[in-house]
Amino acid sequence: MRAKRIGAKKIQIAPFSSRKSNPIHLVQLICPHLSRNVFSNSYKNCILSVGYQKLQIKRVIRFIMIGESCVGKIMYRTQIYIMLLFGISINGYSREIQCKSWQTYVKEHTVKSYVKKDGTRLKQTIRKAHCREKWKYADKWGPLFQNTKPDYWPQSKEDFKKWSSQEKEFIFQELSEIPLIHHYRVNSILRAKKSKDKKNPASSIPETKDIVLYDLYFDSKDTKEILTHEMAHIIAHQIETKYISIFAEKSGWKLEINKRQVYEVPPTKLIKKDSSFSIEEDFCNYFEIYVTNPEKIKKFNLDIYNLLKQRFPL
Ligand SMILES: [Zn+2]
Repeated sequence: MRAKRIGAKKIQIAPFSSRKSNPIHLVQLICPHLSRNVFSNSYKNCILSVGYQKLQIKRVIRFIMIGESCVGKIMYRTQIYIMLLFGISINGYSREIQCKSWQTYVKEHTVKSYVKKDGTRLKQTIRKAHCREKWKYADKWGPLFQNTKPDYWPQSKEDFKKWSSQEKEFIFQELSEIPLIHHYRVNSILRAKKSKDKKNPASSIPETKDIVLYDLYFDSKDTKEILTHEMAHIIAHQIETKYISIFAEKSGWKLEINKRQVYEVPPTKLIKKDSSFSIEEDFCNYFEIYVTNPEKIKKFNLDIYNLLKQRFPL
């Protein structure tokens, strides 16, 4: 047992292992700043605010209040047990559908009749309870988040880690802003601590269709640019070669034959320095800037802007 000072009151808190298995302490963990008086308004408000369904809590609180007047405070431990069990059972049985963390539960509701712009009248209908995605195409990305290193990962010294829900939400949002990226296959979205190349915030392996984001990515200011660039590598390996050939020509790549060897000669005008590394890198740089700053591409190379816009409308 150890004592912990909370505000002016001193209360006893059991060791964590026993607290974890005791529902009363679970409630205290949810609302630790409050006293043990579970009948106080502040306690009820706190529980309400941590995400229980309002109806469910109202029922539970009413149940407790009746219990208080009849049995007295001596029974409050039992009441808390009942409250938790009651809460869990309502939670478990009131929803036929269990939504994923990237979805919102929408209960059954009536959609009133209305007239569409073209004059068609739609009848009043009942919309069944369903799960709605919080972000565009979250259903595609959600199952791809992986917490461990794949067996085939080429960098044996890179340590992988678990995704936090905030990080996932951030990526859902970022991916929803990349046009048509959901048309391309991705195997997994991985999370690792540090790249073998210290300054690298993210990598992609287009051959296995994996993307990895390092700690540095989340500390970076240009996360959207980084993720879009890595996704562009995935696109470059799946889009038709003809599209990439047209791109290369419009970007200014030339083929040079010297002593029976064919060389790809980079354009003299480059959108980014490392674009000269390869046609693929050049494409990814253009795609990254097209998504994050289209006006820049429009001014720099209108042909490429039109080529990208035709396939990936913003
Ligand atoms: Zn690249």
